[in-house]
Amino acid sequence: MIIFLDLDGTLTHTAHPYFKKMKDGIEDTDVEFIKKYVFPNALNFIKEQFLLGNKLYIISDSHPKYVKAIAEQIFDLPYLSLADKPNDIKTRNYIQSIPGLSEAFINKDNFILVGDSWLDIALGRLLNIRTVLTTFYNSNEIDTRDGIGDNRKQIKHGPTYYANNFDELAEIISNPWENLLALESVFQGENSSKAVKFKFQKHENGFTAFRCLARQEDGECDKYARADKYFQIDNPDRSTELLNKLAISVSTYLYRVEAQNSFNWDYLSYVSDKKTTTPPNKMKEIFDLVESDIPKVELFKWDENVVGSLRNNPDYKSRRDFIAKYLSIYESYDLKDKSVVVLDDQFTSSATAYEIATQLRNRGANNILFIALFYLILPLSNKICPKCGKGMQIKINRKKGNKFYSCTPPEYRGEGCGNTINIYNGF
Ligand SMILES: [Zn+2]
Repeated sequence: MIIFLDLDGTLTHTAHPYFKKMKDGIEDTDVEFIKKYVFPNALNFIKEQFLLGNKLYIISDSHPKYVKAIAEQIFDLPYLSLADKPNDIKTRNYIQSIPGLSEAFINKDNFILVGDSWLDIALGRLLNIRTVLTTFYNSNEIDTRDGIGDNRKQIKHGPTYYANNFDELAEIISNPWENLLALESVFQGENSSKAVKFKFQKHENGFTAFRCLARQEDGECDKYARADKYFQIDNPDRSTELLNKLAISVSTYLYRVEAQNSFNWDYLSYVSDKKTTTPPNKMKEIFDLVESDIPKVELFKWDENVVGSLRNNPDYKSRRDFIAKYLSIYESYDLKDKSVVVLDDQFTSSATAYEIATQLRNRGANNILFIALFYLILPLSNKICPKCGKGMQIKINRKKGNKFYSCTPPEYRGEGCGNTINIYNGF
């Protein structure tokens, strides 16, 4: 395995603006001072990975003076400075310039990129390699980091993995398929119980947690994100095998949820299908296949007179109003002090999730776990159309599931020439 490591915020606790002049090469780098800010276990991690035969490289946006001093005198690792993340050109050139790396790059599974910001994740996606988002600092320090913002932004860029410490990072590198998100791992023949932790809200009598089991990519990404499977959910000819696999990922995740909590979950439900939904029973068929000890119930009902659909409502507020108006909880269920799990297919604007959580809490529910099979990650593309020079986007044929680059023409609300280029074998 070839491991690309971000420097500031990943190996060293130097994301604070205090270090900026050194990083920009304006001040000399005080290596002895920086040594005090190396994350605990960073050096051990590097040593262990070296002994396992893995190759490590530092990929940093900082100034050559700074990166060279730290890479050579503290970590003894080769490096690329001024990497210009998330632009992938310099990293690609670096890969091509190093014997062994360029050959290895033919198989993207040989690579993994580790970093603490969305810039690292976006770079990894443009390289089509797997990424690990690290959170080695305390969450209350996030706001003070230089312009990178809150953790939600990093999640929306769609890292393949998450690591809170170097032990977790080492485990991911040793067992890459077992550590994929639950739904992504199923399609590699593995059973993971990992989920994206979107949000956790503590209440007086409990909590609301939002979790997702797979990434639905838009554009460049590693090949383990599964937008293709998301689109197959809508396909009237979807296979039983697909439904089984989706259900297995939910069952596996729920098994861990049940094992972890000190209380029992009272109900397992799902966001019901409308009468007009195609295919009919789109979510019900998946829900019925989920295996869990939590009692299954249909809590939610759509108004008979529902007009339009969630997708036709463009923004968060109109989506939430749509749900509030047409989706409700059956009166017959007593939800006072109950703990409820709700399954849905997708977490996009999160309007459905928040509205449902609000309704459940208004009915007295204590703990709410909202699980979405997929969440849409931010779009990312840097392919240029060879015919007209405009930017191309990656699209997915919704029926067949194959990907292609599209220079989207005006009739599909693009500005391009209509050129398409097929993408073979994923990448
Ligand atoms: Zn074009």
